[in-house]
Amino acid sequence: MSAIILSGKEASAALLEELKPKVQALDPKLVVVQVGEDPASASYIKQKFKCCEKVGIRSEHKHLSEETSYEDLMKVVEDLNNDDDVTGFIVQLPLPKHLTDKEPEINRAIDPKKDVDGFGAYNLGKMFLSKDFEDLPPATPSGIISLLEYYNIPVEGKHAVIVGRSNIVGKPLAVMLINRSATVTVCNSKTKNLAEITRQADILICAVGKAHFITKDMVKEGAVVIDVGVNRTDDGLKGDVDFDAIAEIASAITPVPGGVGPMTVTSLIRNCVRAKERQS
Ligand code: NAP
Repeated sequence: MSAIILSGKEASAALLEELKPKVQALDPKLVVVQVGEDPASASYIKQKFKCCEKVGIRSEHKHLSEETSYEDLMKVVEDLNNDDDVTGFIVQLPLPKHLTDKEPEINRAIDPKKDVDGFGAYNLGKMFLSKDFEDLPPATPSGIISLLEYYNIPVEGKHAVIVGRSNIVGKPLAVMLINRSATVTVCNSKTKNLAEITRQADILICAVGKAHFITKDMVKEGAVVIDVGVNRTDDGLKGDVDFDAIAEIASAITPVPGGVGPMTVTSLIRNCVRAKERQS
């Protein structure tokens, strides 16, 4: 194996250490709203609270029943918006089926000052202006940028190819990379000749949600490969990237688990600190 392993665990530990004095001074509070019993959500929420504990942020878990109505959830959102003790809050996705269609309305109802997931239109829209307006960026793209910075991987002038165009990963990441002067190509399920495009990437980011979707023949020698995918298989957690084969030719690669995941949680915590700074 020749690739450097981009350890999100290591980078996030360093970032959390940097945040500690600010947390002590500002005393922010994060609330996570969970509706229902999605098992993956339960594990993500556990990681978030573990991270809060590590850095000393106050946190609260508002766990609502699977049957919670749209009106009741909106009331919880409104109460959190109006609670001065709450710095930021997130509504953990995915929501139960009867609420999925209401996701845009729920995101819109969150006060932009408290939108620490950065999924609301106000915070997303501001990012389009420039890097200086990325106040509360979505956690996963922001974590990827921080990971690249931590390992001193330059972005300017590079061709970044993103596979996946979701509103929480692919699209906002494209904007953040453009803000840093990368040349960005974003692919989706209708993209023709995908491998031809991915082979042009200096930095290849995959956020598709299919285990081992990116194979060695789709990667240019020396590329930096960022694997966002988290796929639960019979063999455990797998990324979207065929790690073992691609690590032989990439210059740097993220593992799954231990790559983008910890950076996402850390970025959420950083957003909570930033939100408190801005509110103060
Ligand atoms: P998503 O909303 O399901 O989006 C998947 C994207 O992949 C879509 O844009 C889809 O294209 C594209 N796609 C599907 N098949 C494709 C194909 N054959 N060729 C090219 N593109 C294809 O997923 P997401 O929320 O972005 O998450 C993606 C993965 O990242 C999941 O495994 C998720 O669990 C993981 N994730 C991890 C973290 C973390 O912190 N580690 C955070 C968020 C997400 P269309 O738009 O055309 O359908």
